[in-house]
Amino acid sequence: MNLKEFLIKRITAAALFAAMKHRDQRRKDAEQSPYINHPLQVADFLASEGVDEEVVLAALLHDTIEDTNTSPAEIESAFGPDVLALVLEVTDDKSLQKVDRKRLQIENTPKKSANAKMIKLADKICNVRDITAASPVGWAQDRKNEYLDWAQKVISGCRGVNESLEAKFDSEISAARARIA
Ligand code: NDP
Ligand code: ZN
Repeated sequence: MNLKEFLIKRITAAALFAAMKHRDQRRKDAEQSPYINHPLQVADFLASEGVDEEVVLAALLHDTIEDTNTSPAEIESAFGPDVLALVLEVTDDKSLQKVDRKRLQIENTPKKSANAKMIKLADKICNVRDITAASPVGWAQDRKNEYLDWAQKVISGCRGVNESLEAKFDSEISAARARIA
């Protein structure tokens, strides 16, 4: 297997791994879209930015430890320590209360690596869009606004790593605010 074949294989393997782990999950929109659409979209955004291969792999896997029964050891054994480290950087500690997880994302994001910040940017671009274009069922306008305010605070800790993703986030936030105004 040459390098190109090896890299392509790693990406399809990560997409398949995430698809298997998220197979019983749905997003929160009215159509209950397949969960895997979300990590695929996050990874696709990053693939357009000329990022390193492990950033695309970690984007595909970014919600597996947080939201499925995936262990860090599984990711390390399938994709190596660098991809695992990146996934862990963007994984919330689910043993904490939600309010603390939300606060910690704001506090800790500025200390993260540039690659982790790019994944957080792409993740929030997708979620800010989804909150208003494929809205979670039962969310009133106040809750959507609170989410957008919080996402902006998290992303203020990601500035300076990728101008294009930051510009996309800013335009997505404006579009989201306009849709629910
Ligand atoms: P949640 O964390 O419960 O939900 C948002 C997350 O769900 C996203 O970050 C995303 O995470 C995932 N997700 C799945 N499907 C969708 C979709 N269709 N669109 C967008 N995201 C989706 O939200 P919060 O708890 O942050 O709620 C927002 C605010 O509302 C908070 O500030 C909270 O205090 C407040 N709140 C209000 C309540 C109320 O009834 N008024 C009740 C609870 C909270 P991922 O990338 O991991 O998939
Ligand atoms: Zn996500």
